[in-house]
Amino acid sequence: MKIVVLKFGGTSVGSIERIKKISKIILSYVKKKYKVIVVSSAMSGVTNDLLNKSKKISKVFSSIEHDVLVSAGEQISCALIAGSLNDLGYKSRSWLGWQIPILTIGEYSQSRIFKIKTSEIIKYLKLGGIPVITGFQGLNSENRVTTLGRGGSDASAIMCAKFFKAEKCVIYTDVDGVYTTDPKTYKKAKKIKVISYEEMLEMASLGSKVMQPASIQDARLNRINIDVKSSFLKKEGTLITKRKNIRSNKVIRGISFTKSDAKLTLIGVKDKPGVAASIFEPLSKNLINVDMVVQNISANGKETDLTFTIKYDDLNKTQSLIKKNKKIKFRNIIIDKNVSKLSIIGVGMITTPGVTYRMFQALADKKINILVISTSEIKISVLINKNNLKKAVAALHKEFKLEK
Ligand code: ADP
Ligand code: ASP
Ligand code: MG
Repeated sequence: MKIVVLKFGGTSVGSIERIKKISKIILSYVKKKYKVIVVSSAMSGVTNDLLNKSKKISKVFSSIEHDVLVSAGEQISCALIAGSLNDLGYKSRSWLGWQIPILTIGEYSQSRIFKIKTSEIIKYLKLGGIPVITGFQGLNSENRVTTLGRGGSDASAIMCAKFFKAEKCVIYTDVDGVYTTDPKTYKKAKKIKVISYEEMLEMASLGSKVMQPASIQDARLNRINIDVKSSFLKKEGTLITKRKNIRSNKVIRGISFTKSDAKLTLIGVKDKPGVAASIFEPLSKNLINVDMVVQNISANGKETDLTFTIKYDDLNKTQSLIKKNKKIKFRNIIIDKNVSKLSIIGVGMITTPGVTYRMFQALADKKINILVISTSEIKISVLINKNNLKKAVAALHKEFKLEK
C-alpha cells in the first residue's frame, strides 16, 4: 500500500472555509492513488482558549484533567474534516487517540508516543476509507488521555508515518516551508529547500516554532523524511532529512530567537562548592527549565554573581522558590523581563573557524550589547535586549549571506 500521512496545523483548519479547502488537498492525494491518513491539530486558538479556562478554574489545575481538557479541540476539527470528506462523497471517519490507541509514556502534557496500533486503520484503508486522526492526543498505561506538548500534532504525524510505514509525511502549515528565520518577523527570510534533522532540531528548540522539537527527534531516530508545505499556496516546500542527503556550502543555515525569556541575576552569592546546585535544585524539582547560566569570577574569593535565564511564564514561581530557599544567601536579585535569546545554527560551524567572531562583530557594529553567551557544536546563542531583536536578526542574516 502506498500510504501518505498529511498533517494540518491550526490555521490550516482554522475555519469552515479552510476545512473545505484542505479537503480538496486530501482528495488530490486520493486521486494520485495514495492511501491517505490525515492527522489534524485543533482549529487555531481553540487549545489556548481551553488552557485559559483551566487557569480560571484553578492555579493548580490537575495535570490529568489538563490533558483531557486541552486535547478536546482536536476532536472537533477531525469530526469536521471527516464530515467534509463525507459531504464530497468519500468514505471517511474520525479516530480519537484513545480509540486507536496511540500509546504514550512520560509526564502529562509532555508525553511521547511509543506505539500505535495499526490493525483497524489498515483495515479501513483497504476498504477505501480516509481515516482522520486527532493529533496531540495519546493514552498512557493508566488508561488516561495524555498530550504531547504544544505543537505536538507534528509528533503524531511523524509517528503515524513510522508505524503505518508511510511513503511520505507532509506537514501542511501556514508558511510554505522552513525559512532561514521566522518570515513573519523578517521579510527578507529565505526558504530553505533541504535541511538536516540536526539543524532543524536546533532551530526548533531555539524558538522556530514551525516544527515541534520533540517531533524532529522522533523523525531523526526513525529516519522519517518530512515535507513542510503551505496549505494556502501551491508551492514547493522544505524537505527535512538526514545530513547525507544534503549538499550545501552554507556555514550558517538559520537564525532562531525567543521572545518569552526572563533573566535573573543573584548578586553577592557565597562563592563556595554546592551553591549553584542549591539554587537550581528546587527549580528542577518544580520542572522549571533553566537555560543559559553564567557565574562571574569572584573578585574577593568570597562572593560572586550568578545569572541565568528561564521561560517568562516560570518567573513568578521561580522568584517565590528562590525567596523560600533557606540554603542560599545573596544580597540582591535583579530581574530583566525584556530579553530575547538569539541563535545562529549550522553544521558548517564545526569545520569553519571564526563564526563566533563574525557574529559578535556584526552585533557590535550595530551597537547591540550581548548579555549572556552559550554555545554548542552547531549553534551559538546570545541573550540581548528584546528591543534590538529585529536589528540583530537583520545584521546576522546579512553577515552570513542567508538571503543568497
Ligand atoms: P501550525 O499551526 O501549522 O502547526 P505553527 O504556528 O505551529 O503552525 O508554525 C508555523 C509558524 O512558525 C509560522 O507561521 C511562522 O511564523 C513560524 N516560524 C518561526 N520560525 C520559522 C521559520 N524559520 N520558518 C518558517 N516558519 C517559522
Ligand atoms: N493543538 C495543539 C497546540 O495548539 C497541538 C498542535 O497544534 O500541534 O499546541
Ligand atoms: Mg505547530
